[in-house]
Amino acid sequence: MVVKVSRLNPAVEVVRLEDAASGLDGVIVIHSTRLGPGAGGCRFWHYPDIAAAGADAFRLAEGMSYKNAMAGLPFGGAKAVLRRPAGDFDREALFRAFGRAVADLGGAYVTAEDVGTSVADMHHVAEETRHVAGLTVDARRAGGDPSPWTAQGVFDAMEAGAAHAFGSSLKGLTVAVQGTGNVGGELCRRLADAGAELVIADVQPERRDRLEKILGARVVDVDAIAGVEADIFAPCALGGALTPESVAAMKAKLICGGANNQLATPDVADLLVRRGIAYVPDYVANAGGIVSVTAEYLGENRAHVVARVGQIGPRVAALLEEAARRRLSPALVADQMAERIIADVERVAA
Ligand code: NAD
Repeated sequence: MVVKVSRLNPAVEVVRLEDAASGLDGVIVIHSTRLGPGAGGCRFWHYPDIAAAGADAFRLAEGMSYKNAMAGLPFGGAKAVLRRPAGDFDREALFRAFGRAVADLGGAYVTAEDVGTSVADMHHVAEETRHVAGLTVDARRAGGDPSPWTAQGVFDAMEAGAAHAFGSSLKGLTVAVQGTGNVGGELCRRLADAGAELVIADVQPERRDRLEKILGARVVDVDAIAGVEADIFAPCALGGALTPESVAAMKAKLICGGANNQLATPDVADLLVRRGIAYVPDYVANAGGIVSVTAEYLGENRAHVVARVGQIGPRVAALLEEAARRRLSPALVADQMAERIIADVERVAA
């Protein structure tokens, strides 16, 4: 088996993955290794062509550079995006081929789960390389499925956001959750426990119907969820939920969710400021998963993850306060903070 590896760009490393035997077809983008090896999950999804997969991988890897810096992790940003084959395929063969490509990078990239991949997939990857996390581990050690940690961080971020935007807890507030998968589903459970009202939508009916039954959530159409009558909008599906159109129709006064790359274009952040909608930047809210993944990779224990994830709420509170004081978008303020962290490391290293 030959995995073709081509480095297209010396600054941002782009590794093309192609293996006809297993159906592997995708790209790894290593956006930055200034703080350490590039860490970020592996997305396995339907893309019309490799250009679309590559563009998504670039945006996601860039987001990981900011996310890892902001979370205080000794890792740079990277991401893998694999195109899901149209017909039947051997899942183990495909993820083992991916694992060999990760091994070829010699530790410059550390992978884990993302949309469309599971703990079982990462175990196949681990047959080929040690540069993978999100594997089953015992209860004391850090690791396993990162989604519950992501959901916990998003929940804490939302609590801080609600205190800022409404001066209240989440009890009695209505939260519209777009995407009830691993992160969105876990988030819904925590929100229900906290006494929030739920409105949910998912393109896969079986995923939302389960929650409708268990949690008494109200189901709406996927096209309606962003504009539904709610206090908080929680994007937990794929990227690009916040467009000029969706923001114009939005009734919620706070946005906080697990999805990566929520802003379809950077200018939407200013639109949110103009509409008086508080926005918790995606990569600040959803860092819990990568905190768990990197702790597992470094062999740290669970207490370490609990402490690091526990910093997300206070970080969001401080960020929203600073953005309000400076009358700027929290997205811009967060980017400036993350860029400062990376620049400071560069200065020390120079
Ligand atoms: P997932 O695949 O388990 O869930 C995504 C859900 O969104 C699926 O149920 C899917 O059917 C649904 N969906 C897709 N398009 C939709 C649409 N247009 N409208 C409504 N629902 C739609 O993935 P996940 O692991 O829960 O990740 C969700 C998001 O959170 C992704 O953007 C991911 O990158 C991000 N994220 C995940 C983690 C993690 O730990 N899993 C960490 C950080 C960020």
